[in-house]
Amino acid sequence: MEQFLKFFLGIFFALFVLNPFTLKSQNEYVSGFSTSNLSFDFSSVETIVLSPNKIVENATVFWENDSAYILAKHWHNATKVPISMKKWTKKIQKLSNKTDQERRQSATMQIVDVLKKEEQNFVQQAIPHIASFLPPQTPPVNTKIFITAYTNPWAFAVKGFSVISITDKHYHQNAEFILNLMIHEFFHVGYAKNAQLWKETALKDDDKSRLIIQLHNEGIATYVAYTAQNLYSAKGFEPDFKMFENQEIIAKKIQNVNDIFKKANENSNAISDLSWKVGIMQRAYYVAGAFMAKTIDEKLGRKKLAETIENGPRSFVATYNLIAENDKKIIELVD
Ligand SMILES: [Zn+2]
Repeated sequence: MEQFLKFFLGIFFALFVLNPFTLKSQNEYVSGFSTSNLSFDFSSVETIVLSPNKIVENATVFWENDSAYILAKHWHNATKVPISMKKWTKKIQKLSNKTDQERRQSATMQIVDVLKKEEQNFVQQAIPHIASFLPPQTPPVNTKIFITAYTNPWAFAVKGFSVISITDKHYHQNAEFILNLMIHEFFHVGYAKNAQLWKETALKDDDKSRLIIQLHNEGIATYVAYTAQNLYSAKGFEPDFKMFENQEIIAKKIQNVNDIFKKANENSNAISDLSWKVGIMQRAYYVAGAFMAKTIDEKLGRKKLAETIENGPRSFVATYNLIAENDKKIIELVD
């Protein structure tokens, strides 16, 4: 009987989550993204943890053939962060010194087990949640989240795929936090699909354009993951969320974004370095951008927030400024 009930509740829940009418009443529209196809790929982390000896023998072959590491190379190229091969090899070497049993029973493989069990639930719940933030024009994606270990960033999205490095100390070996972060990364995949369709006139300078794209993309991604905590909580783990809940820190991060944008409008040289250091590493784009997304979502509605993804990043700043308090407005970038 209990089995039957569980089965029935499972079916009910799946129908509830997938029912387009439910989505429609929540969001007034259904994004094409809702019909996306997503799966987890564990091949990278399993090769690393279960056969590190083979990688140590020929690291170059691994970097050239492993799907997650091919994407990691793209990340290094895009961000210009150099690959520290020596540091990386040391980690794999350390792993290869452990016994088979130790590696099989490691915390990393335990997280892999949890993620495998959760994969179907994640697909069923994360897609409609993310789709509720995306405009109706967003096409469905056919994509994977690659689960790996020991890449430089703890997570990233490039070329329409997401990569999560589950050994990173950022996660404190917490599988639920990892799942929450997957929602952030998977949002980037949907955002990128819209970037090809933006309606607004882009800034002529690509470097300047990148600054508002990052504010827009990282800000909404942070807010999408923050609002997904009823599915996967990151409470006590995600430093961005802690900052996002602190009004003084939000004000400071808005000031940081304005410092970057003011210099960009003055055509300062070192702008890319400042943007990387303050906007990305010190999280100004994430925290200020999430606050902007929340403000638009709560005061103007989800549809207006999704429209900024349809129109482009300049409209995100302009829409936010319409309703922002005077001391929290964001400087608009100009050519
Ligand atoms: Zn991100």
